[in-house]
Amino acid sequence: MKFRSRLVVNLNSLKHNFEEVQKIAPNNKIIFMVKADGYGHGMYEITRYACTNLGIKEFGCATLKEAIDLRENLRELEFDIYVFSDTQLTEPGNDELYLNLRIIPVISKFQELDFVLQHQDFKNFPICIKFNTGMNRLGFMMTELDLVINKLKQHHKNQIHHLLTHYANGSYSMTKDHYNIKQRENFELVKKKFLENGITFEKSSEANSGSIEQKNGIASNSHIRPGLMMYGPSSLNEDVKSEGHFNGKTISSLETYILKTYHVTKGTVVGYNSTPCPDEGVVAVLAIGYGDGFGNRYSGATLIHNGCMGKIIGRVSMDMCHVFFPISAKDKIKENQIFTIWGDQGVDLVKFSEETRTIPYEIFCSLQSRIPRIYQVN
Ligand SMILES: *Cc1c(COP(=O)(O)O)cnc(C)c1O
Repeated sequence: MKFRSRLVVNLNSLKHNFEEVQKIAPNNKIIFMVKADGYGHGMYEITRYACTNLGIKEFGCATLKEAIDLRENLRELEFDIYVFSDTQLTEPGNDELYLNLRIIPVISKFQELDFVLQHQDFKNFPICIKFNTGMNRLGFMMTELDLVINKLKQHHKNQIHHLLTHYANGSYSMTKDHYNIKQRENFELVKKKFLENGITFEKSSEANSGSIEQKNGIASNSHIRPGLMMYGPSSLNEDVKSEGHFNGKTISSLETYILKTYHVTKGTVVGYNSTPCPDEGVVAVLAIGYGDGFGNRYSGATLIHNGCMGKIIGRVSMDMCHVFFPISAKDKIKENQIFTIWGDQGVDLVKFSEETRTIPYEIFCSLQSRIPRIYQVN
């Protein structure tokens, strides 16, 4: 069967990105973030490849459901799974899931900390604690630091498994952004207080992609937690791109094909709401639309086909969209041709995200299950 549209994932590029990350952080272990279905690339395939071919043994999910699915679908492989945000640790019955499936919850509030400290079955369970050093999302507050330490001491826990924090502004300068500076100082303080109180931590981490790209939070921790960069795009903001040390390759290309082409004159209207063409040209109708996660915010974006530049014109429909090309492109735009949106034959994903005022994270995660993911190793 011919695919209508598909996301072609090149696992060799994942390897390239991993090696690039290792160049930046040769002495750190990696918790590879595969939440949100591997940033839209397919959590199982990405994890299987990373575990088997890259030797990564720790993976990050956001929800307990993701973690259960990951464990159950890759039973034959040996790796650790963390649940970072939606742990539901204290919900009845979930304790057994954590214990039996060896899933590590990231603890960020007292209800959860008390639960693992008081629950007999969790006596030898790895305790992973997250501090809110300034992002103000999840994590223990700095004002709760002493109480966390006291509770651990009361329960004779003089070692925990992992201590971590998360940056709000990893895309911005790690040396100049004052929120980043404050968060880094706060995390140093957390670590110092733990050690002063005789509580050691086997592992620690603070750096996500933006921070890793800037070589921040690497030497001071055992672990790093890359997400986006493993999938290729940089997460650095334009003004800090020069601080980046990462040379990634986008691991996917989004391919669709041309259902139909037709000649238009200036003012010919296209699609829902009858958008007029700006000039004489050729319109290509593509087999992708918002039902695939390719939404109306992409209207107006530049695409490239056979070296010709066109623009998405008019409203994106559920199953289709239209690209307007100048008349000079008419011999290069043909029905049934494969049309690459982003990837080697198409536009650069980061440029596409900038032009459409979104971020690569969201573009990846928007792709629906109607788009099959095809894996290549070459
Ligand atoms: C998603 C996530 C990451 C990865 O972030 P990227 O910007 O994709 O590298 C790291 N740590 C935590 C806690 C996360 O939730």
